[in-house]
Parts: sequence; C-alpha cells; structure tokens
Amino acid sequence: MPTLKEKRTIEPGNVKMKGSRLSIGIDLGGTKIAGILVNDCLDILAFEKIPVDPERRVEVVLQDIIRLGQSLLDQIPDQKQFSGMGIALPGLLDLERGMMIFSENLNWRNIEVMKYLRERLPVSLYLEHDVRSGAIAETFFGAGREFQDIAYVSVGTGISGTLIWHRNIIRGVRGTSAEIGHTNIEPNGPLCRCGNAGCLEALASGSAMERDAYHLLKEKVRGEVILERAKNHVSPYYEIVKKAAGYLGLALANLAEIFDPQVIILGGGVAEAGDFWLDLVKASYYEHLTGSQQLPDIFLGTFKGKASVMGAAGLPYLKEERAIDQKRTGYSDDTPPQS
Ligand SMILES: [Zn+2]
Repeated sequence: MPTLKEKRTIEPGNVKMKGSRLSIGIDLGGTKIAGILVNDCLDILAFEKIPVDPERRVEVVLQDIIRLGQSLLDQIPDQKQFSGMGIALPGLLDLERGMMIFSENLNWRNIEVMKYLRERLPVSLYLEHDVRSGAIAETFFGAGREFQDIAYVSVGTGISGTLIWHRNIIRGVRGTSAEIGHTNIEPNGPLCRCGNAGCLEALASGSAMERDAYHLLKEKVRGEVILERAKNHVSPYYEIVKKAAGYLGLALANLAEIFDPQVIILGGGVAEAGDFWLDLVKASYYEHLTGSQQLPDIFLGTFKGKASVMGAAGLPYLKEERAIDQKRTGYSDDTPPQS
C-alpha cells in the first residue's frame, strides 16, 4: 500500500451518540483514493487519502481500496452501528453488474470491480458513478435538499453533469445523460481528451486553465494557484479564469434553456474557489440567457471537491430509506448473502 499522505483517525469519544449509524464512503479518482467514515448526518469522523498506483494496475488499486476500507472499518467502535460502504468510481459503469466498462483516467476496461471487492470485504457495498455520487450528496444532504429538479455540474480536472428530476437521477439510455463536459462550445477550440475539439471540458475545466497558463507562462502552475492568484486580480491568471468561467456560463445557459431546472448546483475542485469564480460564471450565464422571467439560479454545492466521497458515504442510508428507487434509477447495491 502506498504511504498514507493524509489521515485523520477517529477521536476517542467522537462516536458517542447512542443509536447513531455510521457508514464509509470511498472515491476512486485518477490520482487519489479518498475514504471517509461518517455518521448519518454526514459529519466526517475520520478520513484517509492515498495516492493511486502510478501504473494504475487494477489489482493493486483494488487492494488499496480494500485496505483503505478496512482501515476505516477498524475504527468503528461497535460494528452494529455500521450501515455499509459506498464506492464511487469514475468512467462508464454497469451498475447492475457492478462493473467498470471503461475509464479513460485509469485506462481500465471491463473490470468486475464489485465482484472483486465483495469477495474480499464482508460488508454491504453500494456502487455509484463518481459525479452522480456528488449529485446525490448535494440532493439529499447538501445545497439541493429543498429542490426537486436540479442540474448538478462538477468542475474539476474534467467537467461532468447529472440531472436530478423529481429527486430521481436521470441517467439516459447509455448512462451518459447530462455529460455537459463533452458538449461542443467552440468548434475550432482546443483539443479535448475525448478526441474532439472545443468541448466545454477543454475550455472551462481546471486542466484547461492549467493548459492556458502553461501556454502563456511556459511553466506549470497548479489549478488552485491559478484560482488563488486570479482572485487577487493578478494577470494573466485573472484573464485565464474569467475566460474559462465565461465558457462555463455559456454552457450552463444552454443547459438551463434545454432542461429548465429549478437550480443549477456547481461542485468539484474548481468550485472550492468560491464566490469569486461563481460570480464570473453567473455574469456570463445571465448574459447568454434569453427571455424567461424566472431563471434558474446557480449555487455552489455544499461539498465541492468532496462531493463524490460524501455521496458514496450517503448511499447506504439512502438505500435503507429507499430515497433512491432502484427500478427508476438503475441504482444497485451489492449486499453479501447473509449466512
Ligand atoms: Zn470532449
């Protein structure tokens, strides 16, 4: 297992509420695996973060997920409090079969992730796509709690979206509904990692801003640094962020025109930049919207860069409460047979 980069273990006495339930969420990203132990209000009691194996070997990464999950499980004082473990995975998933069909970031194809984990972790496991998981966190535990019809857009290294309609996830026939990141915004724009030119992701994501900074400055500058300097109006960072936020605002105006949600909620690592970035996005959004008197407002999500792992931790509770309907959403769980 790689060295633990970040770890906060449970404080003695932290889990003192009688009858409180606990769950674990794990989020597999392209570079990190994040794990949290939470109570049923999604208060974080412990977290651990480890780097993903640089060669992205399937067996090594899955073993790391198991060790991370086990390490968090070991911190639960009374196993009767434990509700289950949610796993958020990137890429194209087959939820019913618990498989990852394809992940560009990890370069994995047709991996039976849940079968592997279920055989080695004797707990109730729940699977969800990472961005859908973020949307679930906001809808049921965060900024979207009071709304019925939500467009959730995650802006980080990439850009992706989810529609929640009448509090159900709209997945689409191929499971790629609301993939706003690969809608074409600028036909002659920069090349996207999907192979097309001018996708929203290639114009407005954290990696798009890093690329633009590299072109202008001939040095690598991390997204967080670009956003921080832009916040202080330092040139050319401010212009880079304003341009990217402008493209996002345009895409969100299109999204609002097509789906007419109650609200748009923004999550992901770039949303950590806060109101400074949101204001730039909104300026462009309102500029590009037409007509309607009551326009959907745009909010920052509650969980931002942690939304996926929070949603994963929330899955066991939602399943228990049937807040997520398996038939309507295709949501699946992987409960081991009771012996
Ligand atoms: Zn693309």
